Amino acid sequence: MNEISNDFDVLVVGAGPTGLTVGNILGMHDVRTLLVERNAATVSEPRAVSIDDESLRTMQYIDLAGEVCKSIIAGYGSHYFSSRRSCFAKVIPDVADYGYPRRSAFRQPVLERQLRAGLQRFSSVETRFSTKVAELCQNGQGVVGTLTTASGLSKVRARYVVAADGARSGIREALGIRMGGSTFDQQWLIVDLAGSTDRFRHTRVYCDPSRPALALPGPDGTRRYELMMLPGEKAEELVAEERVRELLSHFSADDARLQIVRKVVYHFHARIADRWSGGLILLAGDAAHIVPPTGAKGLNLAASDVHALYHVLCKTYHEGRSDLLERYSEICLRRVWKAERFSWWMTRLLHRFPEEGAFGQRMQQAELEYLAGSRAAQAALAENYVGLPY
Ligand SMILES: Cc1cc2nc3c(=O)[nH]c(=O)nc-3n(C[C@H](O)[C@H](O)[C@H](O)COP(=O)(O)OP(=O)(O)OC[C@H]3O[C@@H](n4cnc5c(N)ncnc54)[C@H](O)[C@@H]3O)c2cc1C
Repeated sequence: MNEISNDFDVLVVGAGPTGLTVGNILGMHDVRTLLVERNAATVSEPRAVSIDDESLRTMQYIDLAGEVCKSIIAGYGSHYFSSRRSCFAKVIPDVADYGYPRRSAFRQPVLERQLRAGLQRFSSVETRFSTKVAELCQNGQGVVGTLTTASGLSKVRARYVVAADGARSGIREALGIRMGGSTFDQQWLIVDLAGSTDRFRHTRVYCDPSRPALALPGPDGTRRYELMMLPGEKAEELVAEERVRELLSHFSADDARLQIVRKVVYHFHARIADRWSGGLILLAGDAAHIVPPTGAKGLNLAASDVHALYHVLCKTYHEGRSDLLERYSEICLRRVWKAERFSWWMTRLLHRFPEEGAFGQRMQQAELEYLAGSRAAQAALAENYVGLPY
């Protein structure tokens, strides 16, 4: 094995949106950073499609807002449809109170490419793809990371580590940090399409107990469908092309004929880590919290984690404020719990829960009717739908 070859201020593990944003923010401040990603490239899977104004402000902070805004549908909202396909509520965030549209459509793989390209601006940030962090050992003064690549093992030393290694974070597990919360039984089929000529610029949310579903617009003629899997259905059957097209035909004959770019079945989780740090290692993004995608908050929360994290690291490093490492999660959790609550509530509203019987289903119906008939309830939904200030 190689001797410890490099010294960095911060080792960032994972080049998802969290790690890439951390890399950019540290690069802006000339912090010696190593960003390590086990995959050869950034993701291509269907993932986040809604970006809020707070995240765009983070992009502004790292001087990438102009680039990111070139590939979004600015200020898109949601129209909510009953099982009879009549629209009973609309959220149209057409204001820009904090300088950016409050919610916009985007594509995560595009954002990740933009963030990765942004890193090239900084000589203080080194990026290594196809490199996995196999082990971390800390001694109070710093952390030594063992990295593995196709050509073998190497070691690096860093003052701090940011674990941005995603929902299944191996680092979180190694630190013995528990994720409290639950996983919804239902799975969802996610389908990304290309070549759409549908110019409807808002999300259609189908609150239909027989098959809850969403159809979301995207930049450059892309379109996303999210459909709940029903009891008895099998994931491998649902992703078969013929079946996907048949399902989409219930919503739009045109969309059912489009090019299918990606299709995958996901479980929805609502979980938050009990602790966000272990010594000099700090968790951020999905490694620290998972929200059901129904609220479209996961990546947006990651952007605010990074913002808080940067300030904590800087004050700890430059001013010796070691108390702040402990307070990092407290700062972020105020926002995370709000988003988790909203995403959980949205999921309860959209999913089917047959195990709760007729009473549970009637309660869900009552909740939807209240939402449809109350301006106050609609205002509460709208308030949470956009970026929550931090
Ligand atoms: C269907 C779906 C729809 C969604 N929609 C939205 C939305 O509209 N809006 C929103 O805000 N969020 C949304 N999300 C959530 C969003 O995609 C996630 O919150 C976001 O990807 C989290 O980013 P991350 O960087 O924390 O983790 P990840 O994106 O998972 O990145 C972690 C990275 O770490 C790497 N890694 C792991 N272990 C190691 C290791 N040991 N060494 C090196 N590298 C490692 C992984 O390869 C990966 O690249 C959605 C998610 C899904 C699944």
